[in-house]
Amino acid sequence: MANKLENVIIIGSGPAGLTSAIYASRANLEPLMIEGEEAGGQLMTTTDVENYPGYPEGIMGPEMMTLFRKQAERFGTRFITKNVTKVDFSQRPFKIWVGNEEYQAKSVIVSTGASAKYLGLDKEQTYLGRGVSACATCDGAFFRNQICSIIGGGDTAMEEALFLTRFASKVYVIHRRDDFRASKIMADRVKNHEKIEVLWNSELKDIKGEKNVESIVVYNNKTKEESEMKMDGVFIAIGHKPNTDLFKDQLDMDSVGYLITKAKSTYTNIEGVFAAGDVQDSVYRQAVSAAGSGCMAAIDCERWLEAQEHG
Ligand code: NDP
Repeated sequence: MANKLENVIIIGSGPAGLTSAIYASRANLEPLMIEGEEAGGQLMTTTDVENYPGYPEGIMGPEMMTLFRKQAERFGTRFITKNVTKVDFSQRPFKIWVGNEEYQAKSVIVSTGASAKYLGLDKEQTYLGRGVSACATCDGAFFRNQICSIIGGGDTAMEEALFLTRFASKVYVIHRRDDFRASKIMADRVKNHEKIEVLWNSELKDIKGEKNVESIVVYNNKTKEESEMKMDGVFIAIGHKPNTDLFKDQLDMDSVGYLITKAKSTYTNIEGVFAAGDVQDSVYRQAVSAAGSGCMAAIDCERWLEAQEHG
C-alpha cells in the first residue's frame, strides 16, 4: 500500500542526513527520514568528538547525534527507524520500500554514509574504542606519548600515520606487501619520518590486553615469523565502503561505489535525487563536512522542488 506522496525522503541519519532534515523541515518540506535500524551513522561508534566546532570541551559521538536528531524533530522531521530495502528512481514519483511498505516522494536525499573496512579479526571489535580505531583524525589525540600502529598502505594510512606523529611517541605502519599503494609523495614522507617505522610484508594477527590494547601480534609473511609488540593504539586504515548497494544500476558511482555528484552541488545523475555526506565523499569524511553537504542537499532540493512547481 502506498503512503502519501512525500516532498522529500531522506535516507540515512548521520550528520549529513540529519542536517539536511533540519534545513528541509525549516523550509516547511516536512521531510520523512528513514533513519535505519542502526541510526546515527559512524559517530555512534566513536567516543569523544573534539573537532566539531561549537563543542570546546568535546562531546560524545552518540550524544551529538541525539542532539542533531532532536533539532530535526523540533522542526517537524518524521522518522522511520527501519532500513530501506529497495528503491526505484526510474520514474517520478520516486519509490522507496521498507520491507513491504512502499513510500513515494517527489525528491530524495541519499545520505547513507560509508563504513570503515575492518580486517575481520574478532578482537578488532572487542577493542573498538579501547585502543582500536578506524579514524586517526578522530581519536589520534588520545594517544599522546604512546605507541601506535596503522594497518594499511594507501593514502589514508599515510595521512593517518603522519597525523599520529603529532601525538604518539612512535608510529608503526604495518603493510601486507613490500610497496605502498599510496602516492609517492605521501609514501616518501612516511618513509622519511623519524617517528615512523614501516613493517613491510606484515599482517596484524592478534590484539591483546586486559581492558585496553596492550600488545599486538604481527606476522611477517616473508619470513613466516610472528612477533609480539607492545602497543597502545591500533588504527585500521584499509579503506572505506560506501553504503550504496541499494542504488546500483540507478545512481552513477565511481569504481569503489561512491555516488558521483555534479560539480559544486549535491545533484546526482537523476534529477530530484541528491546525495550528501560520506556516501559521495571519499576525501574529507568528517562529521562537519558531511553536515555541510547535508545543508547543501536540502537547499538544492528545496530550490529544485520550487522550480518544478513554479518553473
Ligand atoms: P586504498 O584502497 O587506496 O588503500 C587501502 C590499503 O589497505 C592498501 O594499501 C591495501 O593493501 C590495504 N588493505 C586492504 N585490505 C586489506 C586487508 N584485508 N589486510 C591488510 N591490508 C589491507 O584506501 P585509502 O582509504 O587509503 O584511499 C581511498 C582513496 O582515497 C584513494 O583513492 C586515495 O588515493 C584517496 N585518498 C587521498 C588522500 C589525499 O590525497 N590526501 C587522503 C586519503 C585518501 P594493498 O596495497 O596490498 O592492496
